[in-house]
Amino acid sequence: MTSGGSPTATTRHSIASDTTGSGYRSLSLWHDTPELDWTPTDPLTGARDVDVAIVGGGYTGLWTAYYLAKADPSLRVAVLERDVVGFGASGRNGGWCSAIFPATLRKVAAGSSRDGARRMQLAMNDTVAEIRKVIEGEGIACDFAPGGYVSVARNAAQWARARSEVAGWRDWGFGEDHMRLLSAAEASERLGASRVLGGTFTPHCAALHPARLVRGLAELMRGLGVRVHEETAVTEIVPGRARTAVGDVTAGVVVRATEGFTAQLPGLRRAVVPMYSLMVATEPLTDSQWDEIGLRERETFSDKRHLRIYGQRTADGRLAFGGRGAPYHWGSTVRPSFDRDPRVHAMLRDVLRDLLPSVGGAEFTHAWGGNLGIPRDWYPSLSYDRATGLAHAGGYVGDGVATTNLAGRTLADLITGQQSDLVSLPWLSRQSPKWEPEPLRWIGINAVTALFARADRTEARTGRPSCTASAFWKLLGH
Ligand SMILES: Cc1cc2nc3c(=O)[nH]c(=O)nc-3n(C[C@H](O)[C@H](O)[C@H](O)COP(=O)(O)OP(=O)(O)OC[C@H]3O[C@@H](n4cnc5c(N)ncnc54)[C@H](O)[C@@H]3O)c2cc1C
Repeated sequence: MTSGGSPTATTRHSIASDTTGSGYRSLSLWHDTPELDWTPTDPLTGARDVDVAIVGGGYTGLWTAYYLAKADPSLRVAVLERDVVGFGASGRNGGWCSAIFPATLRKVAAGSSRDGARRMQLAMNDTVAEIRKVIEGEGIACDFAPGGYVSVARNAAQWARARSEVAGWRDWGFGEDHMRLLSAAEASERLGASRVLGGTFTPHCAALHPARLVRGLAELMRGLGVRVHEETAVTEIVPGRARTAVGDVTAGVVVRATEGFTAQLPGLRRAVVPMYSLMVATEPLTDSQWDEIGLRERETFSDKRHLRIYGQRTADGRLAFGGRGAPYHWGSTVRPSFDRDPRVHAMLRDVLRDLLPSVGGAEFTHAWGGNLGIPRDWYPSLSYDRATGLAHAGGYVGDGVATTNLAGRTLADLITGQQSDLVSLPWLSRQSPKWEPEPLRWIGINAVTALFARADRTEARTGRPSCTASAFWKLLGH
């Protein structure tokens, strides 16, 4: 696939597809993996009755199914996926399996306690280890590399943020083994970036191949007796049933795991905003380029700018690199054409070449994007109401690769009535406020995106921390 190409709309969801699934291959670098077969399987053909119906075949849905099937193999579990498993963010992301919880400890503590916030972070750290355990134990080949995460500071403002970030972790009782400050030499040893003043490193992150993970999980599910119905769109979720065009799936429990697509379901338009994150990937780089770039342990990487960028060294020696900056689309609209924004893709290529000059004239072979779910308070949530049987998890803001596993484990414990430590974590059963109606939503979100982009440019030029950006982060609870 070449950058900028647009998939053909052939299904009822206007997404690339044909009977062999080859259209899905163009969705991202990860989809374009030769051994992955995207042929949709087992579409629902009529009404069914199950114990648990899960709407959405991404990590949230599949991890929930996995832990339910493990806890009680007699449960009849069905996953209902509108396109194919891994169609959404779970197949397209940056592959950072990180312990970053999208809400800050300060925000988590404000709604619970200092101890609650610490437990939340420790649960996230454990989650990266848990995913590794499952992947290795179940034999899911997804290029998992527990190399940690290096973030470099490339101007004085970013360096000040790096130091206060590490000091912040110390205040919360997290030591060097959680996150440590790197000198310029130490940071450059890990990532051969330009203008490095220092950085931070945490071991609580791994790089992985997102689509191999999500497709591997689906295969595992089928082996565990979970029915995975692809090309099965749910039109409405009500207590006791998930409605589809070919019949209702009745179930004691219905789990909503639709993340960035949630606003398309009736009654949920203002629940979660779909924001686009876009990515590019290079051809495999040469050994001498890698000698200069580093990332010898396949550390994931970024710098300390406000508008987040993220990258990884793939198992086949490419750079996969992404960032925010794409616009929010009026009315929380989601369209395949929004996955590809030539302006943002060009910006990402420029940012990567500036960050890592050794990339030089390497060809960029792939460009794609996808939507992630942002709740109004930037705080993910999950819930299970025993009375109605309705459950949900989501709003991961763009840090869902690991958080979805914690969500799946916790939902399984709640549904099976397991009194584990997980069911008392602070993110449970809290409700994010609704987003504002349009046009406020459109104006507000795009104004903040522009503000952060401007703050990054000003900081790069002057080295002085942007007061406006800091004020906005505070407003967002950071
Ligand atoms: C470009 C990009 C890069 C990212 N990088 C990272 C990263 O490096 N690290 C990280 O932690 N997070 C990252 N994220 C976020 C992360 O990928 C998500 O938080 C995570 O995958 C969410 O998983 P999910 O299962 O909740 O949602 P999804 O994977 O989006 O799955 C939802 C599924 O529901 C299906 N669906 C929707 N509506 C219906 C319906 N009505 N009926 C049936 N099915 C339906 C969709 O087709 C989709 O397959 C990134 C996201 C994007 C887009």
